[in-house]
Amino acid sequence: MSRKTSYICPVDRLDNDIKYVPGVGEARAKLLDRELGIRTLGDMLRHYPFRYIDRTRIYRIAEITDAAGLAYVQLRARVMGVAYAGEGRRRRFTVSVQDATGTAELVWFQGIKWIEKRIEKGREYLIFGRPGFYRGMLSMAHPELETVEQALSRKPESGMQGIYPSTEKLSNQLGTKGMYQIVCKLWPLVRDGIEDPLAESFRARYGLLPLREAYYNIHFPQSQELLRQAQYRLKFDELLGVQLNIQARRTARLTRQDGFLFPKVGEAFNTFYREQLPFPLTGAQKRVIREIRQDTVTGFQMNRLLQGDVGSGKTLVALMSMLLAVDNGFQACMMAPTEILARQHLATIRRMLGPMAVRVAILTGASKTAERREALEGIASGEVQLLIGTHALIEDRVQFANLGLVVIDEQHRFGVEQRARLWTKNARPPHILVMTATPIPRTLAMTLYGDLDVSVIDELPPGRHPIRTFHYTDAARLKLFGFMRQQICQGRQVYVVYPLIKESEAMDYKDLTDGYEAISRDFPLPEYVTAICHGKMKPADKEESMRQFKEGEAQILVATSVIEVGVDVPNATVMVIESAERFGLSQLHQLRGRVGRGAEQSYCILMSGEKLSREARARLDAMCETNDGFRLAELDLKLRGAGDINGTQQSGMAFDLKIANPTADVQILTLTREAAGELLADDPQLSRPEHRGLEVLRRRYAGRDEIDFSRIS
Ligand code: ADP
Ligand code: MG
Repeated sequence: MSRKTSYICPVDRLDNDIKYVPGVGEARAKLLDRELGIRTLGDMLRHYPFRYIDRTRIYRIAEITDAAGLAYVQLRARVMGVAYAGEGRRRRFTVSVQDATGTAELVWFQGIKWIEKRIEKGREYLIFGRPGFYRGMLSMAHPELETVEQALSRKPESGMQGIYPSTEKLSNQLGTKGMYQIVCKLWPLVRDGIEDPLAESFRARYGLLPLREAYYNIHFPQSQELLRQAQYRLKFDELLGVQLNIQARRTARLTRQDGFLFPKVGEAFNTFYREQLPFPLTGAQKRVIREIRQDTVTGFQMNRLLQGDVGSGKTLVALMSMLLAVDNGFQACMMAPTEILARQHLATIRRMLGPMAVRVAILTGASKTAERREALEGIASGEVQLLIGTHALIEDRVQFANLGLVVIDEQHRFGVEQRARLWTKNARPPHILVMTATPIPRTLAMTLYGDLDVSVIDELPPGRHPIRTFHYTDAARLKLFGFMRQQICQGRQVYVVYPLIKESEAMDYKDLTDGYEAISRDFPLPEYVTAICHGKMKPADKEESMRQFKEGEAQILVATSVIEVGVDVPNATVMVIESAERFGLSQLHQLRGRVGRGAEQSYCILMSGEKLSREARARLDAMCETNDGFRLAELDLKLRGAGDINGTQQSGMAFDLKIANPTADVQILTLTREAAGELLADDPQLSRPEHRGLEVLRRRYAGRDEIDFSRIS
């Protein structure tokens, strides 16, 4: 064998550098690391295809139409001619090919020298690539190709070939085929060194393929059934690794006995309860406050997730929990995802506390010097008892005298890193209460956010009218304006929300400002005021818009989804969501929760184009049918299947999963939870020799404990 292969040490083969795999080398290894974080043979082995295509299926050119929605296809066609076009960096090489049904064009922008030598006019090729259309003609950029003879001489496989996740940069230099070739070279090097962390009896019990077969079939599926089993096994391993961590951490937390004690229900809590509470607590609020009280007298550190639908009154629960901390001589802080929301919490809390002698301060990224000084000095000296803020709270400069409780509002906006950061403020960890309006099953919540107990507010405050939801297409815009006018004439206020998606930010802002101008100019109510609020505005201008709307000076607020969380204007009765098809279901539900907070009937109008994908239609239909956040969350899981819990918010996920999807693989999640419990009951440290492999698995999915500030947004 070559020098390169003999370099690989058989003991920890999978930990060896990917660069030693034939055909990889320094440059590609660097690229793989930078683009995908692949450094070792094991990393590459766990870089799984995300889909498979059937290489035995050959398409006819005429059957590929624009609407076919095909990601990759294979053609069998003859080369009719070649051409060169463009100059310098824009130079391209095109090849026209033909089968019995039509013609297509293949195009290369790079590697032209290499490809032109391999193209022979009049010859028939198997062509594999992603179809596109250029000037009405089927076209493929940088396809793979081989002559029909070559293809026939290959030994037949199952026909399924993996398509590997890649990045734009990487696919220029190492396409899915390149990736596949690396895996082909890698396999003989590693296959004998793959140890199965799961004993045979364990595998038999859960019906799991041996690890080596699973790896083999995920990359080279021998049949659909084996592929399915391979996926199952690898998902199982990932989720088992995660569960071993969560449960081990939980055990550690519950044996540490270093949680702060809040034994007293004292003056602050009691005065608030007796004199300041503006309305009776709902049964669910009472129950949750009791649960929190119980947690804080055990001597263990609380780590609790509070789920409650939008408008269920979580803020009040947070405030009363913070007062418990104050009564026991501790400080508490509350972290909100946005500046606006932090300011609103401050206002709400100050208003609710009224004349009570509790010092409250705020700290956000936009805090001016005086405000900042007051907050920083006040919390360091202990005079400030409650600190409200944004993620500015986790800056190094923020030093609490005695932080006993941290409340995190709308947790899906924060990654675990931020939470970890808060912990380190004290030698002893404060109690943590995380609040969310996204209802998710407990096992799933734990996989996403780590070791947590869960409380649920499953009851809305009395007297709420269910919000009526309608779906209009753009054609009904005049009707919409008429309806808005009618509501405004009755003294109500209206939100108009536009989507803001990172990838198309510039266009989104244009939609928003166009919409704002249209309403300000064309809306048949010149005497009314329209305010605008979006992320690109200066904080002070945003503030001013929000103030105008809150105080009723503006009747219409045009905004991006920044208002999604927490804004509380009971007089607003209409929520218009523009391009509603672009929002996820949980986001739509959150937005709708901004209305229906007062005594008046409220409405949510979903605006969309005429043409909708099936899923978008299902989402909008569901919104019109129900107001129940739990039902919508369930449906969301079903619709999204392979997606993640909050669209782009996967970054909040505590564990680095490659194949398992905790939202879709709930069944495996439950099984691994049981399995991990049994394994740890038997061998808490996983220190027995036969558990060595499991310990490796546990460590691989230990989650991120490093704090990476670039991830904080
Ligand atoms: P969320 O759970 O979405 O954060 P909020 O805490 O903002 O909800 O509460 C929504 C509204 O309900 C607020 O206006 C709040 O004052 C009101 N509210 C909270 N608890 C009660 C209650 N027990 N009875 C009546 N209204 C309540
Ligand atoms: Mg809230």
